[in-house]
Amino acid sequence: MSAETIFTKIINREIPADIVYEDDQALAFRDINPQAPFHVLIIPKTAIATINDINDSNAAEVGHLYVVAAKLAKEHGFADDGYRVVMNCNNHGGQTVYHIHLHMLAGKAMGWPPYQDTLKV
Ligand code: 5GP
Repeated sequence: MSAETIFTKIINREIPADIVYEDDQALAFRDINPQAPFHVLIIPKTAIATINDINDSNAAEVGHLYVVAAKLAKEHGFADDGYRVVMNCNNHGGQTVYHIHLHMLAGKAMGWPPYQDTLKV
């Protein structure tokens, strides 16, 4: 499943974004609503809707998102202190844009677990 989202428009320069990295497979730009001093979204140029749509034929593109995260961490000085990468899936995961994206959050120590509510199973 793949449908055009606002991220396709960012890839095609139809709407502006603060782009920090680009190569033939991926684009990284600052999140419009940052949750850390450094919060970028690393996306594949191919529109893959959710984690459920990852398969053997697009796995290399998805793996490449982590290569970009490692590059950005070194370039921006976060590699040693550390950082967090997160990919949300569907409603319970908190996904709002249906073009997969790796959130890269850095520049502060983050808590764990990420949820605030009491776990009820
Ligand atoms: P999700 O909730 O799908 O994991 O993350 C979507 C992210 O995209 C959110 O953190 C949101 O702030 C960001 N976002 C949504 N629309 C735009 C936009 O037009 N530009 C940028 N730079 N970020 C966006």
